[in-house]
Amino acid sequence: MVRVFCIGRNYAEHVRELSNVVPQTPVVFMKPGSCLVPCGEAIRLPKHGHDLQHEVEVVIRIGKPGRVESKEGALSWIDAVTVGLDLTLRDVQDELKKRGLPWEKSKAFDQSAPIGEFVSCDGTIDLNDIAFTCRVNGVERQRGSTRDMIFSFETLLIELSRIWSLQPGDLVFTGTPSGVGPLAAGDTVEIQGERIGAFSWKIVA
Ligand code: ZN
Repeated sequence: MVRVFCIGRNYAEHVRELSNVVPQTPVVFMKPGSCLVPCGEAIRLPKHGHDLQHEVEVVIRIGKPGRVESKEGALSWIDAVTVGLDLTLRDVQDELKKRGLPWEKSKAFDQSAPIGEFVSCDGTIDLNDIAFTCRVNGVERQRGSTRDMIFSFETLLIELSRIWSLQPGDLVFTGTPSGVGPLAAGDTVEIQGERIGAFSWKIVA
């Protein structure tokens, strides 16, 4: 099954909105591949919390195996890119953070990773300058650019490689800009990336 790496706290304004501290090295957590939701599939509100929040993120796909050791050539490990949602039960996460416990219950539940269709990285997309947005019922909630990432794609790949040997098909959610907020039954959430496309999901009870 696909491995899904996720980077936390990678945009300064989002770090501030949740009163977290800017990290010295990337914050990494994982979701099982079973969390992925293709666009168009209805997303059921999870029952074990009540503050489901959207976090739009640029998602990269690894195309070759091995460890990335230097910034030079690092981007050649990325074969495709899209946007996705790191759905988070914020009330559950706040409780886990307070108690110093792992985040899986708040971030790695079924359907927690809606993901768009991948666009191949053939040189037409400047990875380090992708504008992306999240709209809920047509109203813009988040707008960001990969220009503002605290840790660049190159640094993320090097840092992940220190711990995991990369495999083709690995996905990396690269962090969310500010503006995260709640989702309710009946909402339509749409995410869009420049030169990538727009993808939407309906939240149901
Ligand atoms: Zn996130």
